[in-house]
Amino acid sequence: MDLTGKVAIVTGSGRGIGKAIALRLAEAGATIVVNDVGDNAPAEQTVAEIKQMNRQATAIMADVSSSADATRLIDTAIATYGKVDILVNNAGITRDQLTMRMTDEEWDKVIAVDLRSVFLCTRAVLRFMLKQRSGKIVSISSVVGIMGNIGQANYASAKAGIIGFTKAIAKEVASRGITANAVAPGFIDTPMTQAIPEDIRKLMIDHIPLACMGTPRDIAEAVVFLASDEARYITGQVITVDGGFSLGKI
Ligand code: NAP
Repeated sequence: MDLTGKVAIVTGSGRGIGKAIALRLAEAGATIVVNDVGDNAPAEQTVAEIKQMNRQATAIMADVSSSADATRLIDTAIATYGKVDILVNNAGITRDQLTMRMTDEEWDKVIAVDLRSVFLCTRAVLRFMLKQRSGKIVSISSVVGIMGNIGQANYASAKAGIIGFTKAIAKEVASRGITANAVAPGFIDTPMTQAIPEDIRKLMIDHIPLACMGTPRDIAEAVVFLASDEARYITGQVITVDGGFSLGKI
């Protein structure tokens, strides 16, 4: 897959899956806009690693759950590189709690960062892609959005919402040469899952047919495919990358 000459924005790419996606897209030849929130050191580190590969990259700090920030992210990327070909909506958080104990803030924060951000960044980039008459939008959902999970009603709702959103916009923009797809990761080894206690991690691995956690790179491979011309005839789809977890073990 060759992405030479393409410009890609990857939200939440200072670490974890987003960083692996940014590096993999760069490896395929793309110029990368790295985005993160808060401390800019991880985003600058991702940029430095991409530049070591002799690819172009820049970091734009923005809270993608904020309408003003999401618009600034997309507009600055276009001002810097003249266009955007690929948007990867990756930024996400968890605030786990049983529903009866979940606070309004825990609900609202996860919906804002994991779902609203996808709408905000996609709307902003579509304004450009519709005129360009091409573009690839790939959003990171989760198997939890398909299967549900105890203690994650907020997260499951946001991730299921991404799937509905992806299918809706796939229909809206198909006639303009733009595709929209989602990747639903299973249990992937990142800072997000490293926070899970060791005994629970072991229990989850026991339920994965391929018997191990996935790597951020496993997700990045699916994303780079969906972002490439090889996937030109695929839109409105969800690719599950979970070692068979969602199949069940028996
Ligand atoms: P992670 O290690 O926690 O990384 C998330 C990244 O998103 C961080 O760089 C974080 O920045 C950034 N971010 C958070 N809020 C943001 C905001 N408002 N604006 C911009 N950036 C923001 O998570 P991950 O495991 O790589 O997960 C990446 C995506 O995959 C998420 O959407 C997650 O839900 C999804 N996913 C992960 C798994 C898994 O097993 N790990 C499974 C299914 C789906 P800071 O460092 O500044 O907070």
